[in-house]
Amino acid sequence: MTAEIICVGTELLLGDILNTNARFLARELAALGFDVLHQQVVGDNAARLEETVRAAMARSDLLVFSGGLGPTADDLTKETVARCFDDEMRFEPKVLEDIRAFFTSTGRTTPANNEKQALVPQKGGWFENPNGTAPAVWFEAGGKRAVLLPGPPSELEPLWKSAVRPFLQKGQTRVLQSLVLRLCGIGESHAEELLGHLFGNENPTAAVYAKTAELTIRITAAAPDEERARAMCREYAQNFYRLAGEYIYAEGEEGLEYALVDALRQKGLTLATAESCTGGLVSQLVTNVPGASEVFGFGFVTYANEAKQKLLGVSAAALEQHGAVSHQVAAAMAAGAARAAGADVAVALTGIAGPGGGTPEKPVGLVYLGAARGGEVFVKRLDLGKRDRATVRLAAAKNALDAARRLALGLPLPGAVRAEDIPE
Ligand code: AMP
Ligand code: MG
Repeated sequence: MTAEIICVGTELLLGDILNTNARFLARELAALGFDVLHQQVVGDNAARLEETVRAAMARSDLLVFSGGLGPTADDLTKETVARCFDDEMRFEPKVLEDIRAFFTSTGRTTPANNEKQALVPQKGGWFENPNGTAPAVWFEAGGKRAVLLPGPPSELEPLWKSAVRPFLQKGQTRVLQSLVLRLCGIGESHAEELLGHLFGNENPTAAVYAKTAELTIRITAAAPDEERARAMCREYAQNFYRLAGEYIYAEGEEGLEYALVDALRQKGLTLATAESCTGGLVSQLVTNVPGASEVFGFGFVTYANEAKQKLLGVSAAALEQHGAVSHQVAAAMAAGAARAAGADVAVALTGIAGPGGGTPEKPVGLVYLGAARGGEVFVKRLDLGKRDRATVRLAAAKNALDAARRLALGLPLPGAVRAEDIPE
């Protein structure tokens, strides 16, 4: 079955709001096993909307709309789709009752123009909207179906989950399930070399997406039911674990900071950070995780040399001799942060984020990562390349999160040297 998403609203065309409903609906429809072959955005204009609907009806089995179900004159979606589906609509007293109850519960009286929201399809049906006034409605004609949802995501998403998804699921003979693997420490081309042969499979499919300093692999299986599809994903994932297991840090949507906080919690360890070029980004990411206070108490932002000396005890000699961006200073920062905070694990970053400040010996993108655990100190040189400042900083921060996670779990730190092996 093919499906098409149509988002209605002039504000979308003007770029005033981001079309998050399209993304939500696309993912949901794919998970239900629909082939989403088109997405459209159209303004609040009856003629152009009608043209859009007719084009979609000519090529797709299911049309899913968001927006334009409000009470005002520019909300035209329902009337227009009704015309295309040759449906007269009828007045549904229960909807008006719900709308009145909604207004009463918020201490207001019901404006007269809200009554048009109580019109529902004759050859279709409607779903109550617990979070707003516009119900979702569906039309059916000539083997085609249209589902109309209100625009605000806070209304659309709950309505979809509670009513529309189960409704559409009934007609489906296959479902899709995805499993996401998250990898850090391996580049896209290395992954392609190692895993390339796994990306051509028909079912499950697997695809790799590069993000800053990490990769995700999405495995998607189609099967008659969810359980079977899930089992197929799990089985296929074993191929990736076998070949690249050391780089896989988690499954699902949550990033490195979650895996790190999890690892620290699991092992009963605490973390401290010392940041120069990232200016607190690592501690910001860590504290994005609810409950991070259990494992994280000290984040030092030591941008100036003086701060590195005062707060972390980095020696003036090391700064003078090797410069702030050096193996020696990164090691001293990590050791100093662990000491000052009394933390079990510490990570430190010092580098050149750019766009200026690079030299032939120390180019933009050069970052030293220090990592300490229980008296042992490691340093890794990161060559993050001549990328923009924000990307260099984020890549450095993610490498630090992964290093801390590895030390917490007692895993090796690939590419790192021991501080004691670095000449003074
Ligand atoms: P409407 O139902 O067209 O009156 O839309 C009401 C509000 O929902 C808009 O002002 C937006 O804030 C939001 N909205 C509408 N369409 C979308 C969309 N495609 N993605 C995200 N938000 C939307
Ligand atoms: Mg609108």
